[in-house]
Amino acid sequence: MNYSGVKPVTIENGTGVRVSLFVSGCRHHCRECFNPETWDFGYGKPFKIGRAHV
Ligand code: SF4
Repeated sequence: MNYSGVKPVTIENGTGVRVSLFVSGCRHHCRECFNPETWDFGYGKPFKIGRAHV
């Protein structure tokens, strides 16, 4: 599994303060997507427990 980004502290992606991990790969291909570069499942970096860099 690859990921395209990590926000270690965010309040925009749900209730309260949290960590957000943005996993790569999407088959929906919405017309108004803000991040079409992340549709590719190979985009970003490989996710390894304890090694997601900000
Ligand atoms: S907005 Fe982008 S990432 Fe979200 S479901 Fe649609 S195509 Fe996928």
